[in-house]
Amino acid sequence: MKITRVRAILTAPDNIALVIVKVETDQPGLYGLGCGTFTQRATLVAQAVDEYLDPLLRGRDPRNIEDIWQMTRVNAYWRNGPVLNNALSGVDMALWDIKGKVAGMPVHDLLGGKCRNGAMVYRHADGRDAQEVLDNVLAYREQGFLAVRCQMGGYGGRVRDINRDNATAGKGQKQATQRMKQMDQLESDFPGAYFDPDVYARSIPGMFEHIRAAIGFDLHLLHDIHERIAPIEAVRFAKAVEPYRLFFLEDPLAPEETEWFRRLRQHSAVPIAMGELFNHPLEWRSLITEQLIDFIRVHISQIGGITPARKLAALCEAYGVRTAWHGPGDTSPVGHAANLHLDLACHNFGIQEVINFPDVLYEVFPGLPTVQGGYLMPNDRPGLGIDIDEAKAAKYPIHMIPIEWTQSRLPDGTLWHP
Ligand SMILES: [Mg+2]
Repeated sequence: MKITRVRAILTAPDNIALVIVKVETDQPGLYGLGCGTFTQRATLVAQAVDEYLDPLLRGRDPRNIEDIWQMTRVNAYWRNGPVLNNALSGVDMALWDIKGKVAGMPVHDLLGGKCRNGAMVYRHADGRDAQEVLDNVLAYREQGFLAVRCQMGGYGGRVRDINRDNATAGKGQKQATQRMKQMDQLESDFPGAYFDPDVYARSIPGMFEHIRAAIGFDLHLLHDIHERIAPIEAVRFAKAVEPYRLFFLEDPLAPEETEWFRRLRQHSAVPIAMGELFNHPLEWRSLITEQLIDFIRVHISQIGGITPARKLAALCEAYGVRTAWHGPGDTSPVGHAANLHLDLACHNFGIQEVINFPDVLYEVFPGLPTVQGGYLMPNDRPGLGIDIDEAKAAKYPIHMIPIEWTQSRLPDGTLWHP
């Protein structure tokens, strides 16, 4: 059995650039699909796949997943990084897909078999004030969801909204109007998405107070700080939200501040989730072995696919850390399927993030798993159980435009990590 071609397919059915990798073989009708979606730099991943991995992998036996993964990882000599890891992931997932199709088994069977029927998922509720967030939480509960992530104003008080609200409410109207003028100048000098970390950190405990007072403790609630506040503020924040019994508090610190997890742990018993930006094993190893986090949040394609993810899950299991693979809109349907196979087979699964899958994703990606009663359910087809309709995918070309939210700024214009 030989690989005959490796190629990237770019598509944006839901206006988010997705990178799908297709590995074709010399066996009639046998191919595999993988997710290599790094939406912010999608065309670079496609180039790595088409110009480097295709010539490297043609003629090799697609059954040798471990050897191909190890060799591809180091073949450029300089290794790691999101572009190359996503390209590698696209190939790796596709090889697991092929192996499952050859065996006539879903990937979760290859990984040891199901230890649950479905994966508990969570969805995102947002709102401009606590009542709006609560209304959205109640709507999700009504739909059967068991867990909801709650944010207010995204990842922080939006400076313009705060000033506009103050001006409208007649609170410090003169200062608010003056501040809006300053904002016009700032935004022209330093364009970006402005947020206020102090307003944010002060307002979120009150939001949870409001929600818990209304719904009690039956529903799992989650929150993502998105590394928006200073490390010591994250410690204070974790203590402040402790009474609201969060399922987890995500990304309280930036990847560059991981020493602070020790202090965070000493002061709070809030379960901590971390890791969507990680792409090298040294970034997670000590956090796991020192039991400084409770949920590993890596983006599977960002670390190189199913092969490293199953090893990471095993490492986590040994230290009592559960999985919560990253699953936003810039995970492709193929990536969501890969997440689910790991969720079903790993004993230490915790929770799975999903988005609302619009109909167009089911049209372009037949076999995309469905959410039923708060759980993501598999379809039990061989391999990853998902396909791509390339003719339909071609109807949704990608558009690469500069991203604003990754230019997050403090009220004085200082750039902050997003
Ligand atoms: Mg996150």
